[in-house]
Amino acid sequence: SRVLFDRDPAIAQAIQGELTRERRSIELIASENFTSPAVLEAVGSVLTNKYAEGYPAHRYYGGCEQVDVVEDLARERACRLFGCKHANVQPHCGANANLAAYAALVKPGDTILGMSLDHGGHLTHGSPVNFSGKLYNFVPYGLSLETETIDYDELERLAEVEHPALIVAGASAYARVIDFERIAAIAHGVGARLMVDMAHIAGLVATGAHPSPFPHADVVTSTSHKTLRGPRGGFILTNEDDLARAIDKAVFPGTQGGPLMHVIAGKAVAFGEALRPEFKTYIDHVVENAAALGEGMAAGGLRLVSGGTDNHLCLVDLTPAGISGKDAETLLDAVGLTVNKNSIPGETRSPFVTSGVRVGSAAATTRGFTAEEFHEIGGLIARVVFAPQDARERMCVRKRVETLLEAHPLYPGM
Ligand code: PLP
Repeated sequence: SRVLFDRDPAIAQAIQGELTRERRSIELIASENFTSPAVLEAVGSVLTNKYAEGYPAHRYYGGCEQVDVVEDLARERACRLFGCKHANVQPHCGANANLAAYAALVKPGDTILGMSLDHGGHLTHGSPVNFSGKLYNFVPYGLSLETETIDYDELERLAEVEHPALIVAGASAYARVIDFERIAAIAHGVGARLMVDMAHIAGLVATGAHPSPFPHADVVTSTSHKTLRGPRGGFILTNEDDLARAIDKAVFPGTQGGPLMHVIAGKAVAFGEALRPEFKTYIDHVVENAAALGEGMAAGGLRLVSGGTDNHLCLVDLTPAGISGKDAETLLDAVGLTVNKNSIPGETRSPFVTSGVRVGSAAATTRGFTAEEFHEIGGLIARVVFAPQDARERMCVRKRVETLLEAHPLYPGM
């Protein structure tokens, strides 16, 4: 707005620059999306001014009447959306949600099974560079290198040997359905609890496009900003009263201070949007479009890890093209296709280089790209990565990308 431009032109220009960047590329980063203008308005509101340590009706500050309304609505909508009894909507991000959930579920030094980072897990699932790997005794499980899907038999064997207190299910780069029922049976069979981190697939779970972690999981954590299309943030769900109390304490005062009430308002708006029938249509398109994108890439000669996708993302093995994930990311960026490099099962390169890219359909589906266009985009990706020396080919692809973008304006009128 004018006010920001007058007060702080450097920041205003960077924000405008970011809007331009978002408009000028086809966003295929699987963890990103475009929130609605209503969510943006809530997040940009005066609620950022308010201290509200504690929970609705039990705050450490006065003047919380309005923020109580906001947080109650966010909690109630989250429970309705995911079919559970208790929601904590205060975690500032997905990593904080996991930090608090672990604090509620286990003690430092306890053994936890989590999906290994190089097989698609998240840093907070036990990576040695993360608090999770430092505080807890994480033992990694992963994929069968044959099917490139979760090796449930091996997970069961590990659980029997390691006697974990907790199993964490969920991933950042896994294109297939996760069998929560089976993992719960493994966990509960050895006296462990199950925590599902559904950050990536929360939007799909909300509409039934991916089986729900409930009633199998003891605790569910998530982010609000990926397929769920809300503001950047986290939340934690459970059905058990004792766990609900432990989680609330673990979030505040355990690991956070004052909640970000403006972001919680944004979450409430996004949960409300996700409860509408249009959101189911959106997610159906997300799933259909990811499949079309994958088919387009495969038709262009690339290999999809596990042979395809059931959800919003594809993990692509670039080996047929002979280039690294890092180089592919740079080449694709130059033609207006935004992706991120990603390790693949059996990875031989470092995590900074990798042999794969991860691509997702959530953001571009929000813009209105169709399955046919996603198929074409898959073909464009293949053309670019198979001809890394061909600047003319890239120019050609860039032109086509621009035409596709013009057909789907982002935030018109902003
Ligand atoms: N959990 C999973 C499965 C994720 O993929 C991510 C983010 O990519 C997170 C947690 C962490 O979320 P945040 O970046 O909001 O901390």
